Amino acid sequence: MAELELKVNTADRCAPADFFVGQIERNNNMVSESVIVVGAGIAGLTAAYQLSKFGMDVRVLEAAQQIGGRMVTDTINGYVIDSGAQFLSSAYPIIKDLITETGLARDFIKTSPWAAIRRNGAIHRFRYDDVFSSVRNGLLGWGEWFSLGWNIMWQARKLINLPVSDYSAWAEFDTQYATDWYNEQYGTWMTEYMIEPLLEGFYFQTPEETSCALPMAVSAFLLHRSKTMTLRGGESVP
Ligand SMILES: Cc1cc2nc3c(=O)[nH]c(=O)nc-3n(C[C@H](O)[C@H](O)[C@H](O)COP(=O)(O)OP(=O)(O)OC[C@H]3O[C@@H](n4cnc5c(N)ncnc54)[C@H](O)[C@@H]3O)c2cc1C
Repeated sequence: MAELELKVNTADRCAPADFFVGQIERNNNMVSESVIVVGAGIAGLTAAYQLSKFGMDVRVLEAAQQIGGRMVTDTINGYVIDSGAQFLSSAYPIIKDLITETGLARDFIKTSPWAAIRRNGAIHRFRYDDVFSSVRNGLLGWGEWFSLGWNIMWQARKLINLPVSDYSAWAEFDTQYATDWYNEQYGTWMTEYMIEPLLEGFYFQTPEETSCALPMAVSAFLLHRSKTMTLRGGESVP
């Protein structure tokens, strides 16, 4: 088991994130000066970092040989591949501030908003932040586009109020597999040309084995007009 010691200069004890303040004030009498954090994934490392800013002596225990947990960068035959957490969203509430605070902001770049989706043997370009591009570039017909726009308008008020960083808040939509729900609501074109490319391209899952709650939560990112960011050099070639 690897043991990491977090070295934070005591002069760096700046205002901690609100959720830690609340937690520590509530439990004030019980807080020890020494803390052990189990697991050096992003959650454990963030907890350790925040607690260190209170001046606590933090030790992180990690079972694996390397830190990062499911956030992994591999180098295979000279190719650099982020094989977990390739993308971060600007709609995530905590990590954005963490990136800025730790001086990593310049290492993050926006990903391209363009996707290419095949329909009837032709490749159609589609900007995920511009639904209209789907009809402009021939991916969807006008009828399909109106159906999409109408449904988005109808659902938007509800979807935009649910937190995108907490999938448990979407449990009420976990009623059907994505294929069944989207086929019923829109037609098979929606599953084939919008949902399947999204789920297979980003999540490596098929609509037949994925709850409809996931694409709904993902569509809320678009409603928030959030940007997708990635680490510079994270997916690079030699
Ligand atoms: C293929 C893939 C792609 C992904 N893509 C994205 C993406 O693009 N964007 C995004 O936001 N998220 C993505 N995710 C999800 C994201 O990677 C995870 O949500 C996040 O990394 C989880 O962090 P965590 O610290 O909660 O858990 P983990 O990363 O799982 O960390 C837990 C750590 O605890 C250690 N541990 C567990 N038990 C013990 C023990 N008993 N003793 C000591 N150590 C222990 C583990 O070894 C591990 O290092 C992806 C995940 C995967 C697998």
